[in-house]
Amino acid sequence: MKLGDYYQSGRMGLSFELFPPKTPAGEAALMKHCGALMEFHPDVVTCTYGAGGSTREKTLEIVRQVKQKFGVPVASHLTCVGSTKQQLRDYLDAANRQQVDYIVALRGDPPRGEKKFRPVSDGLSHANELVSLIRSEYSHFGIAVGGYPEMHQEAPDPHIDLENLKRKVDAGADIVITQLFYNNEAFFVFRDRCDKIGLEVPLIPGILPVTNYSQVHRLASLCGANLPRRFVQALADCEDDAEQQFQIGVDYAIAQVNDLIQQQVAGMHFYVLNKSQAASAVLAALGRSEKTT
Ligand SMILES: Cc1cc2nc3c(=O)[nH]c(=O)nc-3n(C[C@H](O)[C@H](O)[C@H](O)COP(=O)(O)OP(=O)(O)OC[C@H]3O[C@@H](n4cnc5c(N)ncnc54)[C@H](O)[C@@H]3O)c2cc1C
Repeated sequence: MKLGDYYQSGRMGLSFELFPPKTPAGEAALMKHCGALMEFHPDVVTCTYGAGGSTREKTLEIVRQVKQKFGVPVASHLTCVGSTKQQLRDYLDAANRQQVDYIVALRGDPPRGEKKFRPVSDGLSHANELVSLIRSEYSHFGIAVGGYPEMHQEAPDPHIDLENLKRKVDAGADIVITQLFYNNEAFFVFRDRCDKIGLEVPLIPGILPVTNYSQVHRLASLCGANLPRRFVQALADCEDDAEQQFQIGVDYAIAQVNDLIQQQVAGMHFYVLNKSQAASAVLAALGRSEKTT
């Protein structure tokens, strides 16, 4: 199935994002959680590509296992960091051999300690170039790209950031998956602005239920997501009670996703952090266990 088709005619496409675990025990646990998430019939499961290609083999191994065990279409993330065009082609060839269905095409972040992204010699500078390379040489792969409702941290202004998003879509991306956000209004404004510039592919909100206070600062510094003050305070108020924090985070995510559904989003992408409990609690509350066709 074409990637964009999961998100057509009110289907509410669903994807889960995993990351490659560092240990065999982490891998076994991931497969258990992934099995639990299958109850919600995801359309696609994706796996991130570690900074600088540090997880290259592991990313492919995880998507291979997920596809083999659960029979679900899979997407590998791929970034331009530290790779020449030939190394990117080598990865795409390997992804092809592993029967990966889709690619989440990204530029990647600058290596730790560096402020500016610098491509390697004969590498790529921006995600739109990676999309072009995939479209022209690996046209069978469906392509997702990243979008930023609260603007990418390096962009000088939202308008320029949006034009850059359009470059990725014009280069051949099928869908946009957004950076996580907690303020739906920012997403709706972003969606309106995408409409205005004629960006016609599905925009899929990225959802990460925050289930403990310690995640709050990490998320804000990692991707600049704004968390509502009252929500952060509610988590802080029960910092010693893991169960209550979990419930507060899940309740927030249920309300957030409910509102997004009412505003007719095309689908949802859950950053599950290799665990099933939070996404399952949200999806169960929303009644998503019957397969949508
Ligand atoms: C859904 C999703 C999944 C992700 N998965 C991973 C992952 O697996 N591994 C990982 O390391 N990181 C991942 N990231 C993080 C991502 O790599 C960073 O956000 C990175 O800083 C930007 O990547 P990008 O693909 O959006 O870059 P780009 O689209 O290239 O944009 C980067 C910056 O450059 C500007 N820009 C874009 N194109 C041009 C152009 N042609 N000319 C001038 N300026 C331009 C943009 O406005 C933006 O400020 C993910 C992000 C998202 C939203």
